[in-house]
Amino acid sequence: MTDPKSLKVNRTEATKLVKQLLAIPGKSGEEAEVAQVVRQHLIDAGVPTGWISSDKAYRQCKIEGSTTGNLIVNFPGTVKAPRRMLMAHMDTVPICVGCKPVKKGTKFVSQGEKTGLGADDRAGVAVVLNTAKQIMQKKLAHPPLTFLFSVQEEVGLQGARHIQLSKLKKPKLAFNWDGGNPYKLTVGAIGGYRMSIDIHGIASHAGVAPEKGASAVSIAALAIAKLHEEGWLGKVEKSQGTGTSNIGVISGGSATNVVVDHVRVLAEARSHNIKFMKRIVKEIEKQFKWAAKQVKNANGKSGRVEFEGQIDYEPFKLPDSDPSLATAERMIQGLGEESVRTIANGGLDANWLFKHGVPTVSLGCGQLNQHMVTEQLEIPWYLAACQIALHLAAGEEANGGT
Ligand SMILES: [Zn+2]
Repeated sequence: MTDPKSLKVNRTEATKLVKQLLAIPGKSGEEAEVAQVVRQHLIDAGVPTGWISSDKAYRQCKIEGSTTGNLIVNFPGTVKAPRRMLMAHMDTVPICVGCKPVKKGTKFVSQGEKTGLGADDRAGVAVVLNTAKQIMQKKLAHPPLTFLFSVQEEVGLQGARHIQLSKLKKPKLAFNWDGGNPYKLTVGAIGGYRMSIDIHGIASHAGVAPEKGASAVSIAALAIAKLHEEGWLGKVEKSQGTGTSNIGVISGGSATNVVVDHVRVLAEARSHNIKFMKRIVKEIEKQFKWAAKQVKNANGKSGRVEFEGQIDYEPFKLPDSDPSLATAERMIQGLGEESVRTIANGGLDANWLFKHGVPTVSLGCGQLNQHMVTEQLEIPWYLAACQIALHLAAGEEANGGT
């Protein structure tokens, strides 16, 4: 049996590791250096290179030119038990590039006021990597384990979406570190739909013959005003469901003396209920089509609209009986803490893993103020996450004990 002392996280090592990872630039699509550092740590800890592989998810991801895939590490078990997966995403949002992590009290912050810290999700990467290293270095007994370091999470969960599933070897339990409070278990998350709307009007000289034109700007304005008036923009609360929508980008026009013939609008809709998410999208489309018909030139010719969109990720909710959830809750209780369940209003890699048939519970790892220049890492929370991860991967329960 594993000596319980071996399941104590080396706090100095774990803190050094996260600091190193935070300092690496690596926005979505540019995770190569992070992957390289993770790989080197594993090899230095004694992981055979044959256990480490990467997939080619980047080929289908939206970002062009990236050649870094999801990094997947498979440990054969030393005990016979169902396979467990531990994961986190390697990319950060662009605002974190150039971060210099410094310790301030119990926190890591980014030096200077212009960069975010990138604890979302390098803290998660550090939790998972620290666990793999410690198991290897201390030769801890463990079930078959899969460690997944995913790419391009921050740009619509692209890495998890296009993952080469067979490489994960069908884990029975799965845990994802991405969030703040280490005792908070995210058991579901919202779904998201992104769309672009191309509005085609009719160009004309705005001074000489405005009546010959049909303004794409007017069409956009009418549609947006109608959506706003009828409660389909922003927070959407209807008898059929709730969700959110947003017009995020409007672009078009080039000169004041031309009736604008093209405007592009980028919009999104979200809901925990996929049917209602689609309902919001339908309403947006309906109003833009309606508005296009209202704006006509002197010949009675109106504008037209084209839509392009896709579900970025479907909403999901783990059943109460989900084994990963039950295991994480028992583990946290066993460590003398209380766990809480929550549902996220943003997408997570777990959305796509659920869709792929790998139900995954997400846990916090000390992130605060994600995606902002005021981002911080709460070190005691991060270390608690390391402790939980180590127990989930190599604890008594993982080894078939009770
Ligand atoms: Zn994240």
